[in-house]
Amino acid sequence: MNMKYEIVIGLETHVELNTNSKIFCSCGGHSSPKEPNDCVCPACSGMPGMLPVMNKRVVELAVTAGLMLNCNINRYTTFDKKNYYYPDLPCAYQITQLNHPICTDGCVTLKTSEGARDIRIKQIHMEEDAGKLVHGGNSSFVDFNRTSVPLIEIVTQPDFRSAEEVVTYLNKLKSMFISGGISECEEGAMRCDVNISVRPEGSEEFGVRTEIKNMASFEAIERAIRYESQRHIDAIEFETEELVQETRRFDDVSGKTFAMRNKETEADYRYFPDANLMPIIIDDEWLEEIKAAKPEAIDEKAEQYRLAGISDKEIDMLMSNHKISSLLDDTVALGCNPKDTAGWILTDCAGILRKDGKTFNDLAVTAEKLSAIIKTVDSGDINRNIGKKILIAVVESDVDPVQYCKENGFDKKVDASAVESVIDSVIANNPQAIADYKAGKTKALMALFGSCMKELKGAADPAVIKELLENKVKNM
Ligand code: ADP
Ligand code: MG
Ligand code: ZN
Repeated sequence: MNMKYEIVIGLETHVELNTNSKIFCSCGGHSSPKEPNDCVCPACSGMPGMLPVMNKRVVELAVTAGLMLNCNINRYTTFDKKNYYYPDLPCAYQITQLNHPICTDGCVTLKTSEGARDIRIKQIHMEEDAGKLVHGGNSSFVDFNRTSVPLIEIVTQPDFRSAEEVVTYLNKLKSMFISGGISECEEGAMRCDVNISVRPEGSEEFGVRTEIKNMASFEAIERAIRYESQRHIDAIEFETEELVQETRRFDDVSGKTFAMRNKETEADYRYFPDANLMPIIIDDEWLEEIKAAKPEAIDEKAEQYRLAGISDKEIDMLMSNHKISSLLDDTVALGCNPKDTAGWILTDCAGILRKDGKTFNDLAVTAEKLSAIIKTVDSGDINRNIGKKILIAVVESDVDPVQYCKENGFDKKVDASAVESVIDSVIANNPQAIADYKAGKTKALMALFGSCMKELKGAADPAVIKELLENKVKNM
């Protein structure tokens, strides 16, 4: 027997939303906590008698994600309780959506080495995250900071046929969600359950599936898919074992998967509607508001950057950092040229940050300040070097660029005659240097150039000074 097999994969992806507060209480959201149990209140720690209050922003971000993935937005959406006991779940139930999820029937197109591939999205639902167990010594600790942090879960149809497609999809979700401000998608904020089966090529029927739970790294997902699909094929081909539908975990060290438990069924969870939360009705007006605020699809956005002359490498940098792409967009909206602004951010700001051992995440320059610098340079009032000096002061000390420019006398336009008279006096005061230069020591001119620059406080274009100086000395 040497049959060819097709791998079939469906994904359930959990994404932590970028909200200021949790989904049903006012504790700080996913990026707030510093110490364990910093962000916990009676509601999210499951004290009796506490009631959930819906965070409106969660609905808006879930709808935005649904729009980006071409889903139907369900105008009537409700929450259900999913019951199970585990120490990281203080209420012993999770609030999630079963009967009326917020988004259904979407589709996303992937560019793969085999051409374009459509992946159908079954649904997106909102739910709360569980806490974290921390094991140490003889004890286990529970940290409720993550309890009730809002998640969306994106469930695909079993449409993937390779690990490559899965990773392409996850990368696309990641850039979409980062650029859309839906999630920061940092390590651990995007977690997948990977459902896998195999079937003989050409077969219409699906094979027995297993589900690998809670995978956070794309690289591990790829390895897990390779291992698990081969395990399925071997089981069928060589009858090494009987495949059963079950939940498995991937062990990063051995690169193997291990059975955790038999697959739970819906009945195991005793789902029932959560009567503490009213159904959410999304009316036309609210939907239009969310649509209007929705950032452009990343493909459109990248295309727009490309048309503005921004390079592919720069586009990649912009698409992977929401903060940077919005700084660019906001600066352009204030009247600056996109390509030029991209250079100021991705080359000049990046250089200053790098020198200080910082990253784009530390960049605090506002579009107003950046555009003020760029416009002053564009108007010819200051040259680019001065512009850079001002940028350094803005990035490092958050000064006001216009005031800083004035205080340092950079705004005084140096006219050509002033430059000339400075050069003339430098020449007159340095006869020895001129003699050296004439005798063939070309370096002597650099000292004169330095003196001119010092006199002019860098306010004139160095290239212009150099040229004028050279001409004068050569013609002496
Ligand atoms: P359940 O309710 O048991 O979790 P779902 O229908 O919600 O099942 O499917 C869960 C995930 O499993 C979905 O992403 C789906 O695409 C995927 N899936 C379903 N059947 C298969 C299969 N035979 N092979 C691979 N993935 C599958
Ligand atoms: Mg499911
Ligand atoms: Zn709370």
